[in-house]
Amino acid sequence: MTNKRLKIGEGIISGYVSIFLATLSLLGILCFKFPEWLTTPEFREVYTAEMVENLMLVAIILSFGFALLSFFLSKNKRYSVIALVLSAATIALGGFTVDGRSVEKVNWSIGLDWLILDLFLMALIFIPIELAFPKRKNQSRFHPEWRTDLIYFTVSHLLIQLFGVITRQPATVFFGWMNLDGVQAWVQSLPFVVELFMALLITDIFQYWAHRIFHSHNYLWRFHSVHHSTQNMDWLAGSRTHFVDIFFTRSMTFIPLYVLGFSSLTFNIYIVFIAIHAVLIHANTNINFGFLKYIITTPQYHHWHHCEDPKYYGKNFSVVFPFIDMIFGTFYLPGKEWPKGTGLHETSFPKGFVKQSIYPFKANPFKSTLPEEEKSER
Ligand SMILES: [Zn+2]
Ligand SMILES: [Zn+2]
Repeated sequence: MTNKRLKIGEGIISGYVSIFLATLSLLGILCFKFPEWLTTPEFREVYTAEMVENLMLVAIILSFGFALLSFFLSKNKRYSVIALVLSAATIALGGFTVDGRSVEKVNWSIGLDWLILDLFLMALIFIPIELAFPKRKNQSRFHPEWRTDLIYFTVSHLLIQLFGVITRQPATVFFGWMNLDGVQAWVQSLPFVVELFMALLITDIFQYWAHRIFHSHNYLWRFHSVHHSTQNMDWLAGSRTHFVDIFFTRSMTFIPLYVLGFSSLTFNIYIVFIAIHAVLIHANTNINFGFLKYIITTPQYHHWHHCEDPKYYGKNFSVVFPFIDMIFGTFYLPGKEWPKGTGLHETSFPKGFVKQSIYPFKANPFKSTLPEEEKSER
């Protein structure tokens, strides 16, 4: 795979778009066929079968359109042929006629619906942004490790239910015995904007300390450094997070959400905001957001957190509010300047999702390269 940025008019971008849409449609059909096993009960409440049927119709038609465009523009007919085969398979399986049906409850399911819809939405928002306003102009969407990041994205979405059950445990074990009705009734009586701000602020303080502990504790840093190992920051890069990191950080942030019992509207908007914002701050975009960058974290802010130069290690732990870093003395945002490079120096991380998931349990990726004092300063 080439590491060059793609140019418009060569038929390759349209080829990829058509394959992408055709693949999502085909997976969508599987969700309609086996909703008990492949869709998420909580997420099913957010969309209707009719919405998804229409979306799939549009995706199949667009996939055909882009395949045709690619066929005429590109010398390489491979992309359009692959997309056409996938679309034909989707239609053969009932892509135009499929109907949603009521779903029986089963104990465990895989979040394929969540994967398809979130991947579609994030690609729709961030690929055009990264094409129009790139930070690193020579960085290709198809850099050497994009597949690894896509696998991280896929696994964390498919296992959403399992991750949810585990990350809720500490909150219920430690606080489940308390009578929280009074507190929760008070929180839910607050104006919506106040409630949302409170949810974002308190979880961000919890997340700040979880994040900082991962940086300062040598053993935990092994796991969190996986997230820092990417050199190519883009909208998928933030997904590269070790499952130990996900469990610990999400469990910590779930504690205030559980104890304070925010209303379901606040909770849902919080989730949507965090999902989009977490992707944004990793994106390869130079959008600066003016004075807003001092109020809410931006790509420039979080790219500094990922800076490869050890001089800037230990800055910008906040996920949402820069002023938390200001209070705890870890804020760093120099005007319009960006870090020269992102990633980690001299680690022994293996490539690929499975190896990276196992490696931190077995060895310290920094052991042979950094002196003891320097490691503990992260
Ligand atoms: Zn970090
Ligand atoms: Zn990050």
